Amino acid sequence: MSKYWIAATLFLLVSCNQEQKTVTYEEIPDAKDVHSYAQPQIAKITHLDLDLSIDFSDHIISGTASYDIETAENADQIILDVNNLNIDSVWLGEANGNRIPTTFQVGSATDFMGAPLTIDISPNTNKITVRYSTNPEAAALQWLEPVQTLGKSDPFLFTQGQAILTRTWIPIQDSPGIRYTYSARVQVPSGLLALMSASNPMEKSDDGLYSFEMQQPIPAYLMALAVGNIEFQAISDRTGVYAEPGMLEDAAYEMADLEKMVVATESLYGPYLWDRYDLIVLPPSFPFGGMENPRLTFATPTIIAGDRSLTALVAHELAHSWSGNLVTNATWDDFWLNEGHTVYIERRIMEALYGRPYSEMLAKLGLQDLTATIDDMGPASEDSHLKLSLDGRDPDDGMNDVAYEKGYLLLRTLEELAGREIFDAYLKAYFEAYKFKSLSTEQWESYVHQHLIDPHDLDIDLSAWLYAPGIPAEHAQPVSNKFDQVDRHASEFIRLGRLDRSSTKDWSTHEWLHFIRQIPADLHVSFYEKLDDVYALSDSGNSEILAAWLEKSIQSGYLRDHNLPQLRAFLVEVGRRKFLSPLYRALKENGELALAREIFEEARPNYHSVSSNSISALLGDSEAI
Ligand SMILES: [Zn+2]
Repeated sequence: MSKYWIAATLFLLVSCNQEQKTVTYEEIPDAKDVHSYAQPQIAKITHLDLDLSIDFSDHIISGTASYDIETAENADQIILDVNNLNIDSVWLGEANGNRIPTTFQVGSATDFMGAPLTIDISPNTNKITVRYSTNPEAAALQWLEPVQTLGKSDPFLFTQGQAILTRTWIPIQDSPGIRYTYSARVQVPSGLLALMSASNPMEKSDDGLYSFEMQQPIPAYLMALAVGNIEFQAISDRTGVYAEPGMLEDAAYEMADLEKMVVATESLYGPYLWDRYDLIVLPPSFPFGGMENPRLTFATPTIIAGDRSLTALVAHELAHSWSGNLVTNATWDDFWLNEGHTVYIERRIMEALYGRPYSEMLAKLGLQDLTATIDDMGPASEDSHLKLSLDGRDPDDGMNDVAYEKGYLLLRTLEELAGREIFDAYLKAYFEAYKFKSLSTEQWESYVHQHLIDPHDLDIDLSAWLYAPGIPAEHAQPVSNKFDQVDRHASEFIRLGRLDRSSTKDWSTHEWLHFIRQIPADLHVSFYEKLDDVYALSDSGNSEILAAWLEKSIQSGYLRDHNLPQLRAFLVEVGRRKFLSPLYRALKENGELALAREIFEEARPNYHSVSSNSISALLGDSEAI
């Protein structure tokens, strides 16, 4: 990182004696994070030590956060991000050591950003402590009543930090460009297990007290905690699965290839640097498919299909152990660096394990998603640039297919221009060069020019990819013979109403998704009836297939004629935003806004704030955020 930082001088007015003093510091990031109040060039956190207690009856986390800090010469303040936290007291020194009183101020809060917590320090301060508590509606936290879990007997809590929600449960410098190590002690009710994005206990303690250690430096959005009636099952010496007891066996079956995935990724991009790789399957309200919390991926139970057909998501989260967790986007405007690289690696893992025809189906579906998203945005939308400009907006707005799939397509295009051998060596070296660091799009651009494009004389207009809308014409084209066969089947059905069970009996999830996408929404509703009669798609136990089918059912009017109870059941149970948004949008756009609002009303308690805020905004709910 240091080569991208420049020396700078800051003049501060010291109020006590009105005398101007000079503060000098050596490093200033050239990528300003507009979503954090922190000023790391003056004072930054290097280690966090948490001592927390979890109160399930009042939905409050309380305790102390102690920080090791590094300061510029003569620094007299450190700024943390807070959002809707109660700050009880602040002192200089350790939580349980000699306390030196100090003053602090919580600035005025704005919208999703929260507020700066400014703490006065002295030039030799290297440790500060904050005693605080969260509010019951803290946006990162989802508190589930026993009835919302599989076992129905114990409550459950999980956190979601990305993009800027960690500041709603920990006062922190909440910027992806600032890394620190952490340790924690967490008290939960006895009988429950607590897990973090750190070294984990694997089994319940008698007293409900758990200790955690994360020795590799991470950015704040990767802080994570889950508490519930959770058990562990090993897959290999260094991989395993956590889940509620009733889900554990199915989860372990689905994740059988975890170790093979780690080995495949290591052979491509170098050693896995986080010690263990475990995964927790959360209750259905988890708003994302997965979240790459280091050492412990958080995953939705909607990937448990019973046939290991949706494990690309696990490959994706594992891939983040290199792209995202190890080499991190400097700001949320550079989000594509995390996700584009991760989708690229995900497909390489799937190719290594299951073959090129399998990974090409994923690439084709991804390109379809990207094209649809860009069509929706319009041809000139700046949101389809890879480098985003999210100043003044919630960075969550930038988390759409563009970062993932346009990012993937750029890397795939570079791979095809350079040849795989050269590109693999380049990518491995990139992770080595930037491990445990953050970089901006501009820094990436200069690196890729220097190490790939210029030495190999590649013909690519990077600016068109990074700083212009849409998909550049010269892009890689995934090829799938399997999908060509699906296309033939779909066109026979559309023209002649003919279905042939024998040719679909071995279809994977991806072939089904492609097939459903090919069926025009304006096809007569009798075609939809026939499809459901023959393939029972409304009763699919595969969440991806069911969601795609329900969306088409709404658009075609099949839902209106048949009042599918499966739609309501799915929307009430599942909180994964990727499924919710298209379904609620389809309802809204097809004259079913009243039904959408009614289902949302019922489902809302099961949704994490990330999902309910999105759906609220989509349905035009005036109480949105
Ligand atoms: Zn991702």
